[in-house]
Amino acid sequence: MIDSDCIFCKIVAGDIPSTKVLETDRVFAFRDLYPKAPTHVLVVPKDHYANVAELTAADPALAGEVLRATAEVAAAEGVAESGWRLFSNTGADGGQDVFHVHFHVAGGKPLGRMLSN
Ligand code: AMP
Ligand code: ZN
Repeated sequence: MIDSDCIFCKIVAGDIPSTKVLETDRVFAFRDLYPKAPTHVLVVPKDHYANVAELTAADPALAGEVLRATAEVAAAEGVAESGWRLFSNTGADGGQDVFHVHFHVAGGKPLGRMLSN
């Protein structure tokens, strides 16, 4: 399902340009436009779900494919050994800006503590 107003649906469709890192039948990964680390890639299901809760409830197999793709991205980016962080912001307090579920794959430098105080 596609949400015609969703920026990440448009990126998956190629209507908004992105720098693709990985693509499978159901998963797309592209570089974050405003990277916060040397490696900062966003991994999304091609189908539109707002957040992790919606994705996992509707299609846990797809959630697994997305997770597997995050590890493949980390390996392709050369950070599998040095380490990387996977996170998915949800809702207002989570700091979610784009309501098409996405997993941030970040690495390439020490990322510090998980949360600031
Ligand atoms: P979040 O705040 O977790 O919803 O993350 C949204 C992410 O999307 C941010 O890290 C943005 O830098 C990134 N972003 C926004 N627009 C684009 C775009 N057109 N291409 C790639 N990344 C984008
Ligand atoms: Zn979408």
